[in-house]
Amino acid sequence: MGRLIPTAKGLAWFRKGHPWIFRNDLAKIQDAAPGSIVFLEEKNGKFLAQGFYSEHSKIAFRLVSRSQEPIHLNFWKERVERAWHYREAVVEKTNAYRLIYGESDGIPSLIVDRYADHFVLQTLSRATDDLLDMFTKILLEIFRPSSLLLRNDLSVRELEGLPQQKKLIMGECPSKVQVFEGKIQYLADLWKGQKTGAYLDQRENRAVASRFLRGKVLDAFCYHGLFALHAARHTAQVTGVDSSQEALEQARENALLNGLANTEFRKENVFSFLKAEAETGRHYDGIILDPPAFAKSKENVGGASRGYKELNLKAIRLLNPGGILVTSSCSYNLSESRFLEILRECERDSGATLRIIGKRGQSADHPVLLSFPESSYLKCLFLEKTQ
Ligand code: SAH
Repeated sequence: MGRLIPTAKGLAWFRKGHPWIFRNDLAKIQDAAPGSIVFLEEKNGKFLAQGFYSEHSKIAFRLVSRSQEPIHLNFWKERVERAWHYREAVVEKTNAYRLIYGESDGIPSLIVDRYADHFVLQTLSRATDDLLDMFTKILLEIFRPSSLLLRNDLSVRELEGLPQQKKLIMGECPSKVQVFEGKIQYLADLWKGQKTGAYLDQRENRAVASRFLRGKVLDAFCYHGLFALHAARHTAQVTGVDSSQEALEQARENALLNGLANTEFRKENVFSFLKAEAETGRHYDGIILDPPAFAKSKENVGGASRGYKELNLKAIRLLNPGGILVTSSCSYNLSESRFLEILRECERDSGATLRIIGKRGQSADHPVLLSFPESSYLKCLFLEKTQ
């Protein structure tokens, strides 16, 4: 069994409850094989925890257990079952959700998303790569899935020195899987779609948004049109805008699938689209802004903030009085307080008054560990332009 001994700083950090230890915060690494389970110990040999050891990544240690219990098949099976029971309690009216969310489910660096009976896995460290056969066995035993697909085409794997890879593990996974989310049916492309096929983290926000949105609605950065389709069930007219042709074709197919003829999907850059709409004097009763993460690292928070500011200011100006803005940021590096500050600046510059009617995050199937800020990334604000 390999052993890691943290520096005083590493120990203090770990005691605060963060589930990772960075390589710089290790004083000693002894017999730790890449991807293996190691003991974290104090200098005097006192046991602290067990976890995954990564040789390449800056994240050298990922917490698995604070006890010395044996970590074998049954241990992991129990963790998977616990993750599932939690989903059974919190996931409603859908058959597409995140079943395992890494650290938040005590299974660091493993993601499992479920689309009906098709499962998509992502292993983000050498340890979960090596445990893939075992997790496959557990998932087969508990869920008897129609297919298991490995979507390891993620750049973060490079930080672990691992190759990008996409592979069918078992069964047959069709090119599109039809799932439902509330009253909406949609097709998810598990092989080629963003993330594992859909933005499951916005699911609950889409449902809440559809309660507020009425009249003429704009879904900016619409991807497969899911916010738009939920809104279209209650509104006169919804326009979805995205720069990806492929995404828009899927959005149109999804609209047909639901018989929602009051939708249109346009291929435009959202920034120029909002500008053009302002120039022609058009207004909306509801606008959804769900851009990709602008702040990919701490270094570009400044540039990202300017992007969020421009988008939100333009959107607020396009809203009719009484209109609703549903605005998101999925940049982990941009804090909620900074996002709120940007929105306040937009309020001032536009001369509008905005009332918060909802302050939300990612769906409950993406739970947040109290002392692991990295597990919380999505901010979604519901604002009403009262005047
Ligand atoms: N709201 C969607 C997810 C949006 S993901 C949902 O709930 O499922 C972000 C989308 O923004 C992607 O589809 C991407 O193609 C699109 N995008 C990124 N930059 C863009 C830009 N400048 N203009 C228009 N679309 C853009």
